[in-house]
Amino acid sequence: MNGEEARVGSATPAVAAERLRITEIFHSIQGEADAIGWRTVFVRLTGCPLRCVWCDTEYSFHGGDWHAIDDILAEVARHGAKHVCVTGGEPLAQKRCLILLRKLCDAGYEVSLETSGALDVSAVDPRVHKVMDLKAPDSGESGRNLWSNLDHLLAHDQIKIVLASRGDYEWARAMLTEHGLTDRCMVLFSPVHGAVEPRELAEWILADKLDVRFQLQLHKLLWNDAKGK
Ligand code: SF4
Repeated sequence: MNGEEARVGSATPAVAAERLRITEIFHSIQGEADAIGWRTVFVRLTGCPLRCVWCDTEYSFHGGDWHAIDDILAEVARHGAKHVCVTGGEPLAQKRCLILLRKLCDAGYEVSLETSGALDVSAVDPRVHKVMDLKAPDSGESGRNLWSNLDHLLAHDQIKIVLASRGDYEWARAMLTEHGLTDRCMVLFSPVHGAVEPRELAEWILADKLDVRFQLQLHKLLWNDAKGK
């Protein structure tokens, strides 16, 4: 399957309060988390206040185009998928992302939100499945984890921890206990491509009998992380 990227049309005049800066909207296969494997429309919002060392979407930090939220919904509808993933960058860095999330839920989509864990998630529509990162030390951004966010996670949400070393793994293992993470929702452990061997991480999880879900990024296997896939 070829991921089909499409830019949103900009013909409709937009009221400033209803616009978002968008890097891309594309149709592909969900490569991560609980909705892995589903045909999904991705809405990638521009901008992120973090700078994780291993970030693979740096192209979303700048640029993008302003689009009316209703135009974004029309573009999403064009692909005819049940699943929509709002991602970035850090989508919550644009406050009007909350409006987009609500409207997508109202339209009947299964909506997920990929967020860094550094910005407040308390106002996100409860119908949205939040996939929230906790940043491990080797990301360079673990000081940005907003721990109060843990209290706003629902049973259908997910915590994702991306691991770049054994040290990151040991940090994540300690956080499981300290914050009771697996009692809150599903916890995903994912290796940084090229930094931790997937098999190594799998063996650590087995040895420690952790109740976490190991994941590899499916889109990296399918398309080697090409933009718009
Ligand atoms: S939060 Fe996400 S988009 Fe922002 S720098 Fe980190 S990995 Fe990249």
